[in-house]
Amino acid sequence: MTDTFTRQSFDFETGACVDIPEVVRDADCSILTPVQFGNPVQPIYGQGVSIVPRFKGRRESEHDQTHYLDALLPLEDYDKVIVFFSSGKDSLGCVLHLLELGVPREKIELWHHLIDHGSDKKMDHPVTLPYTKAVAEALGIRLRLSWREGGFWSEVYRLGSTAPVVFEDEDGHKTVEPKAWRRSQELKAMMEQAEIEGNGDLLQKCFMELKKIGYRMKFPAKGADLSTRYCSAYLKIMVGDTMIAHSAGTKKDCKLLLVSGERRGESHNRRRYNEVEIHGTNAERRNRRTVHQWRPLIDWSLRDVWEIIKRYRMNPSPLYSVGMNRVSCALCIFNGPSHWAGIKELYGSGEGSMFNQIVEAERELGFTLDNKVNINTFVGDAVSCINRTNQRALAQVMKGEFSPEEVFLPDGQTWEFPAGAFRGGDGGPC
Ligand code: SF4
Repeated sequence: MTDTFTRQSFDFETGACVDIPEVVRDADCSILTPVQFGNPVQPIYGQGVSIVPRFKGRRESEHDQTHYLDALLPLEDYDKVIVFFSSGKDSLGCVLHLLELGVPREKIELWHHLIDHGSDKKMDHPVTLPYTKAVAEALGIRLRLSWREGGFWSEVYRLGSTAPVVFEDEDGHKTVEPKAWRRSQELKAMMEQAEIEGNGDLLQKCFMELKKIGYRMKFPAKGADLSTRYCSAYLKIMVGDTMIAHSAGTKKDCKLLLVSGERRGESHNRRRYNEVEIHGTNAERRNRRTVHQWRPLIDWSLRDVWEIIKRYRMNPSPLYSVGMNRVSCALCIFNGPSHWAGIKELYGSGEGSMFNQIVEAERELGFTLDNKVNINTFVGDAVSCINRTNQRALAQVMKGEFSPEEVFLPDGQTWEFPAGAFRGGDGGPC
């Protein structure tokens, strides 16, 4: 028989559950906010205990009904526990929470999506991958990298099919091509030839067919709708889904638990997220593949997350220590002016710099990243968010280096909140 595990004293028997719970918003959270959920928990792995969400999931629409889940299976029933690891504090908090619950390291995998792989243009902070690798090595947990070929920029400049997804599988790299990829490549080759031959009709014909397959030539929109904020969908969500559907270890005959670090305090949209649900890649009938999603930190405040990182004396990504409060894409479409000013300070703004890629792309595309003004006007004379107190972190960020030996704080050193720990909602949502 399975017990239930609510983690808090919430009483489901009274029916006192609400759809949109009150939360400590990140913007209201500070070092003085009491720790509510970030305190130590008892191991439950191997004890037949099912995790029940603190607030029941939504059941309003047909879509909600399809994804509704009462409770997770006992953690030991899953074959793999996959953490979507961005290198940020929330995904790190998830890993530490899983370890505290007793999930064996061998069962956990960190899946990290690269955002600019295969492109000459950059999107990720140079330190993000070294930090991610260092954490995986220091914790002794397997890391698997994945990406959409050409990353963010191949989507922005997309004419024709979206690019293939590549990921590290059990036995080397695996590439999954979208259906229209081959035809798109043929058409692009024909276009090149038509251009050489000066065949305008053929050029136009190929262009129109490619356009029918897919056409962006614009930045993602700043909004919650993933069809227009396509970067999150095409570079992260769909890459993970493709990996689940095609990887040797997750394709069929398995039970998977996907873990991600979204919290209600981050945004109005996230307040309504379910803590547990059936994931879209669940294919019990067709492939005997069970896929559940768990957002263990959904009710945690920012302060709670820092508490667990502090408890394990871990250095968070040095991006926090230099004053950033989000460590998503360096050139995130949601960056505020001071964040952009920080990007300029760290990586320059001249020709070939990351910041200048945006300036040039706006000119080429005739489309601005912000929906009102160009990037230079948007940033204006904003004061940079960069804090130069922690010189070691600054060097790590600027040089793009971080070693496994630096993941844990050495004995005798006091753990301190990084400069960007409580700066409010500046930066991207994923
Ligand atoms: S972090 Fe920002 S730019 Fe990157 S995928 Fe998410 S929303 Fe898009």
